[in-house]
Amino acid sequence: LFITFEGPDGSGKTTQIRKLANYLKEKEIPYILTREPGGTKISDDIRSIILNPAYNELTDETEILLYAASRAQHVREKIKPALESGKIVLCDRFVDASIAYQGYGLGIPIKTVKSINEFATEGLTPDRTYLLDISPENARNRMLERAETEYEEGLDRIEQRHYAYHCKVREGFSNIYRENKHRICFIDGDRSQDQVFEDIKNDVMQVING
Ligand code: C5P
Ligand code: MG
Repeated sequence: LFITFEGPDGSGKTTQIRKLANYLKEKEIPYILTREPGGTKISDDIRSIILNPAYNELTDETEILLYAASRAQHVREKIKPALESGKIVLCDRFVDASIAYQGYGLGIPIKTVKSINEFATEGLTPDRTYLLDISPENARNRMLERAETEYEEGLDRIEQRHYAYHCKVREGFSNIYRENKHRICFIDGDRSQDQVFEDIKNDVMQVING
């Protein structure tokens, strides 16, 4: 079972995916928790190039290919082997993020984003995706709060982009939801952590129990 979490920066997906991981652990359900870009040594090295705020000259084409390269390694080295061994894979972001950020956000044609990623992942698609939606104002505030408290380095190269970029990304996620309602569970992320998790927990147990 392949489960992904998506949503704009500051939507709380990382908090929620950790809650879900703890919940599965308590229930002794075998799982792995991983994230993109990253998840393997090589993918993490690629992540540090993509997110480096000093790399202003990094082109949009390079950006999308680096995300795809990181993902290709992640799928083959970690995700597929875990799925084959019967584990639940919880992944913080996947192809939907590229459609939203590089497609809708940067304006790369959606068809191009999809075909690059089809190649990178051999067509691997999540069984269930939790899309955490949040208003751009709330997202911005959470992102800034976190940059002050959690990380010394502040916002990453993508997070530093303009407000308008993040609005396009959110719109993009909404479109992706409309086209994939069978797989995507839409979650109102403007509520408390516990309320959000309650929805996710109920849905995931239904999915697991078939
Ligand atoms: O999930 P997280 O916020 O840690 O992702 C790291 C950064 O990579 C974020 O700023 C996110 O916006 C960006 N990203 C992206 N395109 C993807 C995946 C992540 O721009 N396909
Ligand atoms: Mg982020």
